[in-house]
Amino acid sequence: DARLRFAPSPTGSLHLGGLRTALFNHILARKWGGKWLLRVEDTDQSRLVPGSVDSLRSALEWAGLDYDEGVGRTGGSHGPYTQSERLDIYRHYAQELLDKGEAYECFCSVDDLVAIKTALVKSGNHNQGYDGRCRHLSRDDVQQRKRAGHKYTVRLKSRAQKEELPADLIYGKAGSNSNSSGADDFILMKADGWPTYHLASVVDDHLMEISHVLRGEEWLPSVSRHHQLYKAFGWEPPKFAHLPLLINADGSKLSKRTGDVNVEQYIEKGYEPEALVNFLALMGWDHNTALEATLEAKGEGLPYHTRRDGHSLYEIFTMSQLIKAFDISLINHRSSAVDLSKLVFINKMTLRRKAGRLGDDGKFVNIGREADTAGDGGYDAVLKRYQDELRAREELAGSTLVENAAYVRKVFEVELPRGELVKSMAANSSTFFLEPNYKGAEAEKFLDELRTKIYVDVLQLVISQIAALNETQKFDSDAVWDIVHATLAELKIRKKKDALLPMRHALSGTHAGPGVPQMAEVLGKARTLARLRAGLA
Ligand code: GLU
Repeated sequence: DARLRFAPSPTGSLHLGGLRTALFNHILARKWGGKWLLRVEDTDQSRLVPGSVDSLRSALEWAGLDYDEGVGRTGGSHGPYTQSERLDIYRHYAQELLDKGEAYECFCSVDDLVAIKTALVKSGNHNQGYDGRCRHLSRDDVQQRKRAGHKYTVRLKSRAQKEELPADLIYGKAGSNSNSSGADDFILMKADGWPTYHLASVVDDHLMEISHVLRGEEWLPSVSRHHQLYKAFGWEPPKFAHLPLLINADGSKLSKRTGDVNVEQYIEKGYEPEALVNFLALMGWDHNTALEATLEAKGEGLPYHTRRDGHSLYEIFTMSQLIKAFDISLINHRSSAVDLSKLVFINKMTLRRKAGRLGDDGKFVNIGREADTAGDGGYDAVLKRYQDELRAREELAGSTLVENAAYVRKVFEVELPRGELVKSMAANSSTFFLEPNYKGAEAEKFLDELRTKIYVDVLQLVISQIAALNETQKFDSDAVWDIVHATLAELKIRKKKDALLPMRHALSGTHAGPGVPQMAEVLGKARTLARLRAGLA
């Protein structure tokens, strides 16, 4: 049975790349009916950041990545899952390699090592870290130095590898012996009795019966060392799959300087966990290839390219749809650019899906994707979050309209089709809850752009028509459209926006917002009239 693991080091907040690694482990474990575990790799004590494990676990939980075993889970027969609690185990296995003659004690001091490295570089051996001189110490010599209390590390007695490494599931053969191909007696145990990453990782992957090691590309150069270790122990190695790097849209390395890299930042901004997960799943997984094949078989083209913004509904997946559609052979090894406009698009669609308003199911069925309604139809849940965001807005404090459930629901209805985040929906709709401020900079600038003469004519005419509606006539967006059209005709205005913009200014004081007739419907007749009049004053 497949067993996978996510093995982060607790050196700070979880990055997008880390979450993507955890996600691919999760998806493949579920797809293969296997298990995945969380192992904390804290053997480099100098890099520990307190609180990392908690924030890591809460980020995984937020994202819905429920691992089966490991730190924070009870049970699991392969623990402990934190490396600092496994020091005896590493010592035991280092001793095993010493006993088998696969490793040796090295008494070289830091100064010795610097001198050795300098000499190696001078003689052209740039890739070699150590010249292996302690390999040749006699047993007596070793015992004597130990008794005298000399510090030592344990190094692998490496052999120059002739044979090829098994292909990486994603990188293929290119992943083999890139730089440490020659003899490289790397350290297994440090002088302070702690294991190195290499020893701990291999021992744990073996003891935890890991079948597939899925991790970031930065570990690709370590594979050759890991294979040497499996060989020295006489263990069967797992399969390796390295995930391509995440980069910024401009090709630069994803870094704090250029954008948000911490998962926490996305949580704070208010992204839906399903959306971030969906977004990350597309980083490196070439689902378009599979989609194209499916559509081609049906004689259809890929609609992806037909959208101007380059996003399509085909990119919207729930977790169970991801698990079904995912295919490790379609993970490519090109770096994946983090395209925030795609995340925003996915978040928008996810919100609609969760509110039961995505529609377009027919299309998904058409490409053989099973409908998944989990988490859908949570209309009231999304509405409630929206209302909570309204309540949290300082400028709306004390607004009784915010507590008017029917009204809030109406505003939500017109905001949902353009909403990107629940938070931004609330921010954008404050105009429905506050009287417009025509004296603000935005409103004044807006007014300057409108031709004042028409502004007055339009508003006067619209006001008189609305006021003339009797009580039995419905005041909805259709009625407002009729009035807009009558106004255009009467004033011989050709462009609709010349009538709509003055109305928008009077109704909201801002440029952005839902359609003017929809806005008027939500505000209701009385409030619409009052605002139109206020705009004229
Ligand atoms: N502890 C390593 C990290 O923080 C994981 C390497 C591995 O998965 O083998 O990225």
